[in-house]
Amino acid sequence: MDNMNKFAELGLSESSLLAISTKGFEEPSPIQKMTIPLLIQNEKDIVGQAQTGTGKTAAFGLPIMDMIVEGSGQVQALILTPTRELAIQVAEEMSSFRGGRKISVLPIYGGQSYNRQFSRLESGVEIIVGTPGRLIDHLKRGTLDLSHLKFMVLDEADEMLNMGFIDDVEFILSKTPAEKRFLLFSATMPKRIVQLAENFMSEYEVVKVDSTQLTVDLTDQIYFEVRASDKFEALCRIIDVEPEFYALVFCRTKLKVDHLANALLDRGNDAAALHGDVSQAQRERILDSFKRKRVNILVATDVAARGIDIDDLTHVLNYSIPQDPESYVHRIGRTGRAGKLGTAITFITPSEYRQLMQIQHFSNSEIRKETLPKIKDLIKIKRERIVAEIKEVIDQDDYHDNMHVANELLEGFPPDMIIAALLTHAYKDEFSTDRYTEITDPRSQRQSRSTRQNQPDDYSPDQEGITRLFIALGRKDDINAQKLVNFIRQEAMVDPNHIRNIQVFDNFSFANVPFQEAEHIINTFRGKGRDKKPLIVAAKPKNDNDEKSQRSAPPKRKQKTRRSKKR
Ligand code: ADP
Ligand code: MG
Repeated sequence: MDNMNKFAELGLSESSLLAISTKGFEEPSPIQKMTIPLLIQNEKDIVGQAQTGTGKTAAFGLPIMDMIVEGSGQVQALILTPTRELAIQVAEEMSSFRGGRKISVLPIYGGQSYNRQFSRLESGVEIIVGTPGRLIDHLKRGTLDLSHLKFMVLDEADEMLNMGFIDDVEFILSKTPAEKRFLLFSATMPKRIVQLAENFMSEYEVVKVDSTQLTVDLTDQIYFEVRASDKFEALCRIIDVEPEFYALVFCRTKLKVDHLANALLDRGNDAAALHGDVSQAQRERILDSFKRKRVNILVATDVAARGIDIDDLTHVLNYSIPQDPESYVHRIGRTGRAGKLGTAITFITPSEYRQLMQIQHFSNSEIRKETLPKIKDLIKIKRERIVAEIKEVIDQDDYHDNMHVANELLEGFPPDMIIAALLTHAYKDEFSTDRYTEITDPRSQRQSRSTRQNQPDDYSPDQEGITRLFIALGRKDDINAQKLVNFIRQEAMVDPNHIRNIQVFDNFSFANVPFQEAEHIINTFRGKGRDKKPLIVAAKPKNDNDEKSQRSAPPKRKQKTRRSKKR
C-alpha cells in the first residue's frame, strides 16, 4: 500500500483514492504530482503543460471530483476538448474517477442526437465534457446552464487553437461565471495559449513537465532514410521483421491514408484507414476492431488520430514526416504510454533531413538512424521464426493428430526431404523473394523508375527530391516573391525555407520545393484557381533553364529571383 500513499499525500479524498486503486494506478505521474495539490490547496487558475499520455485527465479530474457537490444536478465542471473522440475518452476517464460518488458525467458532441442530450441535461449532470460547436448550440438554445460552473477546463488547448476553435472557446468562456476556476492543459505552449491565459485568467500558475522525460524515457525513436517511392516497401519489411506490430501509421493527407491502407490490405495485412471523411459510426467500429487487435495497423491523419488512447501500441510510424515538431511530439505520445516501451519510427526522404533535425532539437530527444532489413535477412528471420513456432508445437505436444500422416510419408521418403517439402508447401510465399522489391539507396543520384502500380507514395512529379511548381498567380495579381512565399506558407503551412528559386512573371510564377511539400501544396490548392482549376501544379521537370523551356514566359523582363543557399 506504499504507493497508494503517494496519491494520498496529494490531499485527495477517500473516494478518489478508491477510484485510483480500482483503476490500478500505482503512483501519480509528474503532472499529477504537481497539479493535484495546487488545485486542492489554493484558488488559482492553472496552465499545465505536459505531453500526451502523461495523465492530464486525472491531474485535473480527481481534484475536480473532490471539489464539486455530488447529486446537485447542476453543471459544475465543463471540460472542452477539440474532438468528439477525445470528449468520449475524457468523459469515460472522468466517470472512472467517481469512486462511488453520485456524480454524473455527460459527453456532448456533434453528431449525437439532440434529444438524448436534452433529456440527459434535464435530468441533471455535474460534469460535462464536450466539443465547442455543440456546446455553443446548447448555450444558444438555452438548454445548457453554466451559472453554477466552478471549473472550466480547456483540454489539448493547442490543438483546439490549431483547429480554429479560439472564437468558440472565447464565446463559451463569456457564458461562464467570473469566479469559476479556469484550467488550461496543452502539450505545447505557443504564444496564443499564453495570450489566452493572460486574457482570461486572473491569477494563475504555470505547471510544466519537461518534454524530455516523456519522449526519451518510454519511446525508442529511430528513423530510416528512404525515397518516397520506396516507403511502402520499407514499411512492409518492418512489418515482416517485427514479431508483433500493433501500430498507428501517420500520413499527411486523407488520400495517402486511403492509398496506404488499401495497399496494406492488398498485401494481406490487417489494416484500416482513419481520417476526417470517415463517418462517426464507421470510426467507432474501426477503433473498436483496432482495440481488439482484429486490425493491427491503423493508418491515420493527425487530426483523426487525435486523442486515440491505446496503451499497448508497439509502434508509431511516421510514414510522412510530421509537419512540425509539435505534431511529432503528439504522434510519438501515442506509444510508450502508461509506462510501456514503444518504438517511434520516422521515414524521411533525403530532403527532409533538416526537418528531422529540427524535430530532434525541439523534442530534446535522440532519434537514431537505422538501416532497413535486407531481403535475405528478412527471409532468414522468417525461417527462424517458423522453426521456433514448430519447436513450440512440439513442446506443447500439439501434433498427435498428424502422426499417422507423418508415418505414412516416412514410409516413402527420407525425413529431411519430407520436412523440406512440407515447409515449401506451407510457406512458399513467405520465403519467396518476390514478396519484396529492391530499395534504392536514397542518396544515390541514379533514378529508379519503379513500375509497380499501387505504391501509395509514388505520386511526386520528380523522384529526385525537388519539384518545380507552376503557380497561376503573377505580377498582375499583385504578387511578388515574398508575398508568394507568405501565401503558400499560410495556406499550406509549409516551412518557408523550403520554398526556393522563386520566379514571378506577369501571369504566373514558379518555385522549387521538396517533393513531399509539393504534394501537400498541390493538394491544398486543388480547385482554388480560376474556374475551380488547380491554383498550383507541378511544372514539367526541366532543370536547365525554366525561362527558356516555358515558352509562354516573357523572356526579357527578368524579375530578380530570390536564391537561397543551396543545400
Ligand atoms: P493525457 O491527457 O495527458 O494525454 P490521459 O489522461 O489520457 O493522458 O492518460 C493516459 C493514460 O494513462 C490513460 O489510460 C490513463 O488511465 C493512464 N494513467 C493516467 N495516470 C496514470 C497513473 N498515475 N498511473 C498509471 N496510468 C495512468
Ligand atoms: Mg488528455
